[in-house]
Amino acid sequence: MEIVVASGKGGTGKTTVATSLAMVASEQNTIRFLDCDVEAPNARLFLDPELDTVKEVGILIPNVDDDTCTYCGKCAEVCQFHAIAVIGKKTLVFPELCHGCGSCTLVCPENAITEELDVMGVLESGNAIKNIDFAQGVMNIGEPMAVPIIRELKRWAPAKASAIEIRDSPPGASCPVVETIRGADFALLVTEPTPFGLHDLKQVVEITKEFEMPTGVVINRDGIGNNAVEAYCEEVGIPIMMRIPMERRIAEAIASGKPLLKAAPEYQKDFENMLGNIITEVGA
Ligand code: SF4
Ligand code: SF4
Repeated sequence: MEIVVASGKGGTGKTTVATSLAMVASEQNTIRFLDCDVEAPNARLFLDPELDTVKEVGILIPNVDDDTCTYCGKCAEVCQFHAIAVIGKKTLVFPELCHGCGSCTLVCPENAITEELDVMGVLESGNAIKNIDFAQGVMNIGEPMAVPIIRELKRWAPAKASAIEIRDSPPGASCPVVETIRGADFALLVTEPTPFGLHDLKQVVEITKEFEMPTGVVINRDGIGNNAVEAYCEEVGIPIMMRIPMERRIAEAIASGKPLLKAAPEYQKDFENMLGNIITEVGA
């Protein structure tokens, strides 16, 4: 079973919820945790993995052999991203536009194209607290595309078979979030009861609706703002699965890298109940 924890808005406590859920779930299940927030992965601060396996990740960029190329233009015709062009007696590749789809290599009648790995970042994995099988993607600074790293992270063979996979999504509602959500069984959306929280929650709900994915909401910093999130969830039929009140001691603990359940162990039962409800909803 795969549970994705997403938020839309950054800073809502998504990683806090994802790591707490993983810690609770690990007591009775084998857990694989994927930090898909590849631009700023920080779940390791709470789960403290020993990252002992590293793999470079990227996309395959075409490299044209000028001696074999006949400048027929078939590669440029097939490329949807305008990443390869024939200009006179030169076939040019624009790596920053290339998505590594391989179509140009497939259609080249002269086999003039070979592919080279353009390294965009690394995947790292290792054993974390509570025997959680942990993996994260780390994108190189300045890279334009997170999706290939997230896709590869999801594919990367876990060290051991996992009963439950928990994915910590990047913030926002763009392609990296869509890729993180794709294929999951349940989406847990963390929000806060503010106009910004509601605005961004709606955007992620549109994605989970598109995937027809069972979805639930956690309201973090409950007590600030207004009731608009509750009203929206009722309107669209999404259950509020848990509330975490705004409390200074929790905020301080999380800011210092302490897991929520260490700072406030009384939430253990709430997380257990939420996990049970997710398992029932998914029918796993
Ligand atoms: S399809 Fe092959 S032969 Fe034709 S222009 Fe492209 S690289 Fe050259
Ligand atoms: S690999 Fe795909 S995106 Fe890249 S140049 Fe070839 S056809 Fe275009």
